[in-house]
Amino acid sequence: MTALQLLTLISAALLLQIIASTGVTLWRRNRRIAKTPQPAQAEMPATSPGAWSGWRDFRVTRRAFEDAGQTQCSFYLEPLDGEALPSFKPGQYLTFALQIGVDAGSTKDAAMGNALRSAPSLVRCYSLSDQPNSSTYRVTIKRASAPTGQTNLPPGAASSYFHDHVQVGDILKVKAPSGRFFIDAEATTPAVFIAGGIGITPMMSMLSWCLANQATRELHLYYGVRNSTDHAFKQVLQELARAHPLFKLHVAYSSPEPSDVQGVDYDQTGYIDLVLLRNSLAHGQHQFYVCGPPPMMQTLVAALRAWGVNENALHFEAFGPASVQFKGAATNEPADTTSTSLDIRLNRTGRTLVWNAQDANLLDFMERQGVSVESGCRTGSCGSCETKLISGTVSYADKPDADINQGHCLLCVGKPQSALVLDL
Ligand SMILES: Cc1cc2nc3c(=O)[nH]c(=O)nc-3n(C[C@H](O)[C@H](O)[C@H](O)COP(=O)(O)OP(=O)(O)OC[C@H]3O[C@@H](n4cnc5c(N)ncnc54)[C@H](O)[C@@H]3O)c2cc1C
Repeated sequence: MTALQLLTLISAALLLQIIASTGVTLWRRNRRIAKTPQPAQAEMPATSPGAWSGWRDFRVTRRAFEDAGQTQCSFYLEPLDGEALPSFKPGQYLTFALQIGVDAGSTKDAAMGNALRSAPSLVRCYSLSDQPNSSTYRVTIKRASAPTGQTNLPPGAASSYFHDHVQVGDILKVKAPSGRFFIDAEATTPAVFIAGGIGITPMMSMLSWCLANQATRELHLYYGVRNSTDHAFKQVLQELARAHPLFKLHVAYSSPEPSDVQGVDYDQTGYIDLVLLRNSLAHGQHQFYVCGPPPMMQTLVAALRAWGVNENALHFEAFGPASVQFKGAATNEPADTTSTSLDIRLNRTGRTLVWNAQDANLLDFMERQGVSVESGCRTGSCGSCETKLISGTVSYADKPDADINQGHCLLCVGKPQSALVLDL
């Protein structure tokens, strides 16, 4: 055997040994993670300790636009009663009831109580966009315009109301912080925040909290927007990235303006996708947090799963009707009721309706039948459509975010499994 052949043989043996030991290490690590019980995420109470029940009055103390296009506005809130402000888990949201048509400022006036009570309320959820502090909550709201090419449709009701009518000094009705999409405070593996558009809000809260409380944790924010007009929190994020070497900011513009400069305003053109993640993240375990518009959620969450990301390292939230299915979280996956007609009796009015599985959920069904029901997020988060279930069984394809009171059901994500009697 020549010296060259011997050297090649030794190198090959060494390489094989390295590959084998890396494989064993990775296998052991994956096994350890797989054995770790699911983070309490699904089981944790959705509300924070010290939370109030029902609606509490908050005064708007400040408003500030966060983007050059002025379509994303932050509202700072302090409790009117001056009592302590419960903390929250970074990533959670607040639920608002808006009496549109009644000037928010006038709710200070007790004489307006009757007008307030009679005005229909619009319920919406907005993520807390800053880390917890003892005096203020902050939410950041994007003005929802009419869908592209459909200018005959009205713009978003609640977001337009916030932008056009809610001023400093106004009082708003707010439910306590809630939601199961929040940072896992125990995890130390690098956190990867992926935000599309206004999906940046829970990430701002989680990121600020991590930077303040987990100095040695590696953090990545992948933020996709159209261009500099929609780029929210631009200066704050750039300053944070400069100040914290372990925080890596990656901004993608899908449609840069001619004046937008790559390397200054943004890092790459296009969308946040798996190729970008694979090229910029080091090998190893990460905790992923994803929030963005439906197309981003659908493609990215599926891609992360296909890449081999464990379910317990994958956290996501949709701001509209759920566009991604939660794996393994199913509770009573509904049986096929397409061929079955079920009686839905409304106890208060005495009406009996017939469910024949045409609708995605009981809320759509009620609205199609002309039954007026209070509702909010339509994603099982805010609990506004919770209804007393006098008899029967309602099932949910995905575990709802809201805690459902015993003997009640959520119409917006529920389907009947039997004939029902509802307290409506
Ligand atoms: C957990 C959670 C957290 C959230 N956090 C945030 C946040 O931090 N910031 C934020 O900005 N949003 C957030 N959202 C979204 C927010 O709750 C609202 O859904 C959003 O502001 C739009 O509400 P709206 O009342 O303005 O629009 P809506 O009145 O509900 O209208 C929504 C869209 O439908 C269009 N529309 C109106 N009428 C019709 C029609 N007849 N046919 C078809 N389309 C129509 C409107 O033009 C608009 O584009 C969150 C949602 C959830 C569930």
